[in-house]
Amino acid sequence: MKPFIYDLSLEQIQDWIKEQGEAAFRAGQIFDWLYVKRVSSFEEMTNLPKSVREKLNDGFRFVTLTEIAKFESKDGTVKFLFGLHDNHAIETVIMRHNYGNSVCVTTQVGCRIGCTFCASTLGGLKRNLTPGEIVAQVVQAQKILDPENERVSSIVIMGSGEPFENYDATMGFLRTMIHPKGLNIGARHITVSTSGIVPSMIKFADENTQINLAISIHAPNDTLRSKLMPVNRRFPFVDVINACKYYIEKTGRRITFEYALIGGVNDRPEHAEELGEVLKDMLCHVNLIPVNYVPERNYVRTPRDDIFEFQRVLQKKNVNVTIRREQGHDIAAACGQLRAKHMETTTG
Ligand code: SF4
Repeated sequence: MKPFIYDLSLEQIQDWIKEQGEAAFRAGQIFDWLYVKRVSSFEEMTNLPKSVREKLNDGFRFVTLTEIAKFESKDGTVKFLFGLHDNHAIETVIMRHNYGNSVCVTTQVGCRIGCTFCASTLGGLKRNLTPGEIVAQVVQAQKILDPENERVSSIVIMGSGEPFENYDATMGFLRTMIHPKGLNIGARHITVSTSGIVPSMIKFADENTQINLAISIHAPNDTLRSKLMPVNRRFPFVDVINACKYYIEKTGRRITFEYALIGGVNDRPEHAEELGEVLKDMLCHVNLIPVNYVPERNYVRTPRDDIFEFQRVLQKKNVNVTIRREQGHDIAAACGQLRAKHMETTTG
């Protein structure tokens, strides 16, 4: 099958142009059509000779994300269910903040990590996305914002899938995103979120980029974390924390811990106490996320006062902590919920 044009970095397009015996500057023109003018076909690349457009057509496919469904929240969050060429569906979310527009992308169809509070993992992993299929989500989001003269100012890799189990595609995607001749999104405005795939965390730290790293920690110790996140049996709590310390040491960057509060499970003051002990001297920030209701799991929400109490206990340990403002709650914006519903309706 022909690769997607968005799978290629500028350097790879340059190599391809060279192989075709075409003038080197054509590569820059192609990149410009893809990311600055944001066309949807090779035919629209009108400053390229017809012969080059034909070669592009013969060698590559455009990623076509078909919009299966679109849900708009009262708070401006827009969630898309996009169809891929092989009939799989993925979710992408545009979040509107007063400081800009953020896009949450998906890196895999489904997920095999098995976090017990997450709908994305219910059907297991179907396949990895290619770099171009991740890139296309942001390009599509930018095209949606274009008529309003708005731009995608930040990206979070927090949609369905574990990006560090699709490491090379994720890194390819990131390189295209931050390229000054492409969408030119500042590395500091991009966050990759992982469930704690330790070898990839180390590799990512060694890349020494300015891209932010977030860890889904969700528990203050090994036993509880293994219950909530089976991946903890592969990469235990202490190893994840050590990999975080390595990242901080290598990059000098603050790390974010995502902590989904689940009523009566991991949201007691003693859990906050224990977490605070682990994190108290680290350059980090904790994001408390009141868990979204996943009908397939029997979790209840943490009462408001308990959320604030959890925050207070952490603050007493001098841990920087915020409660995530929920977006798109009315449109099932938590990862995997729309796709799960879509799978129910398409599989009967
Ligand atoms: S939370 Fe993320 S890593 Fe965990 S199952 Fe869901 S998509 Fe996978």
